[in-house]
Amino acid sequence: MKNKGWKEESDRQGSKGRQRTGGLADSSWAILLMVLVAAGNGWARHQTPADVSKELHLTVKVYIYAPIPQYELATAERVAGKIFQNVGVELSWVDCPLTGPTAQLNPTCTAPNTPTDIHLNIVPDFAEGPWVGKSAMGFAVALPPPSHGQCASVSYVRAMGLLRDARELTLGELLGHGIAHEIGHLTLGTNSHSPSGLMCAHWNVHELKLAAYSQLRFSEEQAATIRSDVRARQTQYEASKSDQLASQK
Ligand SMILES: [Zn+2]
Repeated sequence: MKNKGWKEESDRQGSKGRQRTGGLADSSWAILLMVLVAAGNGWARHQTPADVSKELHLTVKVYIYAPIPQYELATAERVAGKIFQNVGVELSWVDCPLTGPTAQLNPTCTAPNTPTDIHLNIVPDFAEGPWVGKSAMGFAVALPPPSHGQCASVSYVRAMGLLRDARELTLGELLGHGIAHEIGHLTLGTNSHSPSGLMCAHWNVHELKLAAYSQLRFSEEQAATIRSDVRARQTQYEASKSDQLASQK
C-alpha cells in the first residue's frame, strides 16, 4: 500500500446514524428503507449462497509491536472485518501483544501458521525501500499462486502521520482500512493495485470521501478473487490435516 491519505469506515457513520434516527420523518424512513432494499437486491444479484458462506474465513494473528490503544485496535479490526464481511469472508482476530506489564500471549500466536492464517504486524515504523514507498502506511508480501501470501505489516508512526491529512477519521478507522488493503494484497496476489477503490495505491480526495461514508471497498472482481483465494487456502488446509491424520495411523 502506498498512499497519502486514508480514511475510514464503520463507527462514525454508525453512531451518527443512531443519533439521527430520532429526527427522521416518516418519509425519510421510507426513503431509507427503499435505499436499504435496493442495496440488498444489488448484493443478492451479484452473490451466490456459496459466496456468502460464513465458512469462508481467515484468522488474523495481530502481533502488536507499537503502542496502539486497545480501543483503536478494536476499531481497526472491526473496520477491516466489515470490509471483508462485505465480500463474504469472515476474519477472526487473535491479538498478540508482546509488550506491556499485562501482556499475555495467546498460544495461537506462537503456533505455526496454517494456510488460512494471516500474520499481521503492527510495528512502530519501517524503513523506506525498494518495496516500500515513502508514503506507504503498510506493506504485504504477496505471492503468486498456488502459494498464498501470509505476512503484512502496518506502521503506527506512518498511520499517525497520515492521520493529520485524514481528520475525519480516527486512528482505528484509518488503520482498519490500511489493514484491509494489506490483507487484500495477500489474497489478491501480486500487482493487485487498482486505479480506484480500496486497492488504489494512492488515495485521493475521492477515495477518502468514499471511505468517510463506508463506501471504500473491494471491487466485485476483487471480491471474487478474494473468495477464490480463501477457498483455496481452506482446501489446502483441510488436505494438510488429512495428510497429517493419515501419517499418524
Ligand atoms: Zn498497496
